[in-house]
Amino acid sequence: MAKYDLQKIRNIGIIAHIDAGKTTSTEHILYYSGAKHRLGEVDAGTTETDYNVEEQDRGITIYSACIPFSWQDCTINLIDTPGHVDFTAEVERSLRVLDGCVVVFDAQKGVEAQSETVWRQADSYGVPRLVFINKMDVVGADFPSALEEIRERLEGRPVALTIPIGSGSPKDSPTPFAGIIDLIEMRALYFETADEGKTIRAEAIPAELQAEARRWRERLFDALTEKDEQDRLTSALLEGREIPAASIREALREQTLLRLIQPVLCGSGREHIGIQPLMDAVCWYLPSPLDRPPVLGTNPRKKDKEEKRLPDPKEPFCGLVFKIVAEPHGELLYVRIYSGTLRANSRVWNPGKDSKEMISKLYHIFADPTHRDELSESYAGDIVAVVGLKESTTGDTLCETQHPILLEPIHFAEAVVSRSIEPESSSDKQKLVDTLTLLKREDPTFDWRLDPETGQTLMSGMGVLHLEIKQHRMERDFRLKVRVGKPRVSYRETLKREQNVWGECDRQIAGRRLYARLNFVFTSNPGGGLECVISEMPPGEITGRPEGKLVQQTVISALQSGELGYPMHDVKAVVHNVDWPLPDRSEVALQVAATDAVNKAIHDNIVLLEPVMRLEVTVPEEYLGPVTADLNARRAEIEQLFTRGKLRVIEVLVPLARMFDYSDKIRSLTQGRASWTMEPHAYRPAPDEVLRSMLGTGDLD
Ligand code: GDP
Repeated sequence: MAKYDLQKIRNIGIIAHIDAGKTTSTEHILYYSGAKHRLGEVDAGTTETDYNVEEQDRGITIYSACIPFSWQDCTINLIDTPGHVDFTAEVERSLRVLDGCVVVFDAQKGVEAQSETVWRQADSYGVPRLVFINKMDVVGADFPSALEEIRERLEGRPVALTIPIGSGSPKDSPTPFAGIIDLIEMRALYFETADEGKTIRAEAIPAELQAEARRWRERLFDALTEKDEQDRLTSALLEGREIPAASIREALREQTLLRLIQPVLCGSGREHIGIQPLMDAVCWYLPSPLDRPPVLGTNPRKKDKEEKRLPDPKEPFCGLVFKIVAEPHGELLYVRIYSGTLRANSRVWNPGKDSKEMISKLYHIFADPTHRDELSESYAGDIVAVVGLKESTTGDTLCETQHPILLEPIHFAEAVVSRSIEPESSSDKQKLVDTLTLLKREDPTFDWRLDPETGQTLMSGMGVLHLEIKQHRMERDFRLKVRVGKPRVSYRETLKREQNVWGECDRQIAGRRLYARLNFVFTSNPGGGLECVISEMPPGEITGRPEGKLVQQTVISALQSGELGYPMHDVKAVVHNVDWPLPDRSEVALQVAATDAVNKAIHDNIVLLEPVMRLEVTVPEEYLGPVTADLNARRAEIEQLFTRGKLRVIEVLVPLARMFDYSDKIRSLTQGRASWTMEPHAYRPAPDEVLRSMLGTGDLD
């Protein structure tokens, strides 16, 4: 590992639509950097980042892991991001902790749905990025059109740094993809297949491509001079002076960090072409922790006071837990250190939970999780795995007690699909609960609960695949055999009208009178989740006291199950009045009154909400008619229809309830020629007939 120098650290992620080649590129990066001695084959399921057998079975990456390696004089922490639409929440969580990213596109497919979502998330987190156009060797690979899509669909400003020599494979193209042209050094680069691309041959640009290379280089300068505020290039260009590569790179770095441009490189993972220039570009153009703005948070002891921490080992320590990996013999918590120094055998504070936590050990964990380096301390800008924390979960801040700071928590999308689950053997009931609890800790988009009406255990997640993966993980890693029910939609309920109610408790128990009355106003709380506040107005009996907290907790927990048994969504409850006379006050009476208030407020006063998904289907023109007709029958709203190469792309919003049989249907409608992706979009009121037809059960089809 290179010596500790913040300027030389790159915390990056590689983000791609499934199958664009993220795993293949990652494998090559690890191989060329020496982090691995052998190139794993994606298709044989032996790759380094996909260490989980589940992932190998499916050929997709599910768990984020952070893999450190060296390149040039940099230490790169590669934060693995998942490549499947069911897991955009995981991508989003990674975006919080990385400083820059590489977005991989398939040269033939261009910008696909999930890339679009992730690109916009990266925009919202202000993450500078590079683009890698992979699969230049496949038939129909089209470099200029991929760039055009980035401009049009993503409103990006892609700037090519390398261009392909040829495209497609020898079988289908007279000029197959053979190498790349480096537009900064103006030379052609070829990669030896004999040693899997390790040896690079630099040659003169082939005569027939010289004019084209010059045109692309001019475009690069056009893009750079447009915003050349420091005049790094403009005068030199006007005066016809030779511009050193270092000056071009300096200008590129500056504008990439400001997110004015995205440098674009191209290649083919499978053919071992173009990866090392991408790795160089990560070091040259992506930010070090020092290039990122200071991290901001609030002071948990003085609510409105903003706190700021610089990426400096001498600052007070603060970090964010962004990933928990549950192993049968313990938990690893991945922490991004934003400031200060974290030491093994030390205590930190979790301000969100107001708990002191013990850091017993610190590790750098490599792609194979059995390979780990134990550290005595670690510094601002680094990412470490920690053992010893008991109460902290994903999204929690850790800091020093004397220097409190609370970073913004990570927001997770809600689970939209659920399935009943039971152990095959009834003696495993407790084990099921323990395992579900552990899996929920590891993945906040996964949840489980007991259905009070049926007594069934329900697990819920982001999609059917997500739940299948959890099931397999239980069976394989925790040796727990389970039976699961059909997938069901996770509906939600929300309040139809505002309600002003008194919740009451007036009971005689064992000669004692339990009495309390609480007056609430319940309103809808768009985008605000579930909230319960106690107004400062009279009588103030419980404000700021443990009893107040008890009322709030009771209300929030009662709202977990609406009139139909689904969790309530976006409801605010304000306590306006309390009648809880002395001398015989009972907390139970308060709890009963609060629950009674919730029941009264929601009775005959709910709207059923259903998850609506964003679906993108890509089909050959001749199948457009039947595919669209089928989508219409599923209550889909067409958002966009456009052409990509010879294919048509349909983007729709469609209720999840209508989509469980889609795989089979689209396959038979298009003879397997369509591809599609789907992810949660929003919760929307379900039509009345849905409410009537599934009332109480939520079963589909
Ligand atoms: P991921 O889902 O983004 O991680 O993609 P993978 O790296 O697993 O690749 C998906 C499939 O595309 C695999 O079958 C790879 O062998 C194949 N693949 C990856 N890169 C290339 C490439 O550059 N050219 C070609 N022809 N196939 C590739």
